Amino acid sequence: MNNLEKVVVRIPPSPTGYFHIGRARTALFNYLFARKNKGKIVFRIEDTDKERSKKEYEEDIIESLEWLGIDYDDFYRQSERGEIYKKYIEKMLDNNSAYVAEDEVIRFKNPNRKIKFDDLVRGEIEFDTSDLEDFIVAKSINEPLYHLAVVVDDHESGVTHVIRGDDGISNTPRQILLQEAVGAVRPRYAHVPMILAPDRSKLSARQGATSIRDFRDKGYLPQAMINYLALLGWNPGTEQEIFTKEELIEQFSLEKIQKSGAIFDEKKLQWVNREHLKRLPAEVQKERQISALREELYIKKRPTLDVSSICWNDISKENTKKYLEKVKELVGDDDAIMKYAEKVGKGNVLWPLRYALSGLEKSPDPFTLMAALGKDESISRIEKAIQLL
Ligand code: GLU
Repeated sequence: MNNLEKVVVRIPPSPTGYFHIGRARTALFNYLFARKNKGKIVFRIEDTDKERSKKEYEEDIIESLEWLGIDYDDFYRQSERGEIYKKYIEKMLDNNSAYVAEDEVIRFKNPNRKIKFDDLVRGEIEFDTSDLEDFIVAKSINEPLYHLAVVVDDHESGVTHVIRGDDGISNTPRQILLQEAVGAVRPRYAHVPMILAPDRSKLSARQGATSIRDFRDKGYLPQAMINYLALLGWNPGTEQEIFTKEELIEQFSLEKIQKSGAIFDEKKLQWVNREHLKRLPAEVQKERQISALREELYIKKRPTLDVSSICWNDISKENTKKYLEKVKELVGDDDAIMKYAEKVGKGNVLWPLRYALSGLEKSPDPFTLMAALGKDESISRIEKAIQLL
């Protein structure tokens, strides 16, 4: 790469389904590469296929990118660029690289030759384009087909690097031919191996969660998700496995992308997620614990208490009652409760309090429980225990 050239990449999803993790992974590679090189990211919705494209999917893709923290510098939809494509179709008809065929469609005049390109991941790739025949580039002057739209967009946006899944390799010869026909500079290509299911088959909905929204709904952290996705087909060549987004940007390089398919492993993702959870600030961890607790049954429904379990060790009912009465007055002031417990004996106070709140031998600490229950419910549960004593 010459140093004067500004990197421009594209994130070009088709809104024909929820944002798949494979697409998200290539979007991430584009993002990391562009941010590392102070380049530009063009996000475009490839909705030339009117039947299969849906607004609902477009919204899902936009939301998923936002959730992952993948931002971009430019945004457009192919469906809004008809005039631009028309200009190029006219140009191709003028310079005789395309013609109107008998069936009225516009076909590319295939020069039938060999094309070579240097893939940044896979090395040199050669194709004989005569297999492609005179392929259709537009159904009419106003209806460009996919490959033409892609070539025009990449050219108009000044795309320097096409980083995409290796299911895109077979598109490359057509796109290179069209670039030559419209006078576009050829971008560099990096075809990234696909993400595979554990049995090495294509990762599809049959294997469970496959879209970013599935993982978001399962409760994964976005920072864990991008960390894990980055490791699917890339690693920095060191032992490091847990990265912040900034570290990924810093260390990312196309040269370190692997040539073989990456296996998706949810266990590993869970581990990465746990590591990121540990790194969250203490207050955020507390918040997450409390909101998770609100889902627990014993929080929603008052538990039945077993009198014999209320008192700590051999502390009398009388004393326990006294402790709980004091605590009841202090609910809302965790520090005061803690001070009081330290004075008269931590277990003596905190055990009956925790048990009164949860009705369980094992549960989160009483302060977390009180935060999840709220003040009124905490007081009523303490009162209930006092009555039983
Ligand atoms: N719209 C294509 C897709 O979502 C992108 C292919 C490409 O990167 O050229 O599969």
